[in-house]
Amino acid sequence: MPTTEIEALFSVADIGVFPCAKCCRPMKLSCIELTAPGFDVRTFQCERCNHTETFAVSI
Ligand SMILES: [Zn+2]
Repeated sequence: MPTTEIEALFSVADIGVFPCAKCCRPMKLSCIELTAPGFDVRTFQCERCNHTETFAVSI
């Protein structure tokens, strides 16, 4: 069973917008990579400070 924290990250990643951890600006989805059947890895990048975050998302 996934934890509630992971479920929250999944739902945020599904929306396609994520606040930057450094400057709180909305980060844009810049890359989606398929890693395994049913899962992909989404990379978000901040346009202001270039901070990036990656999330594994079940699809
Ligand atoms: Zn930023």
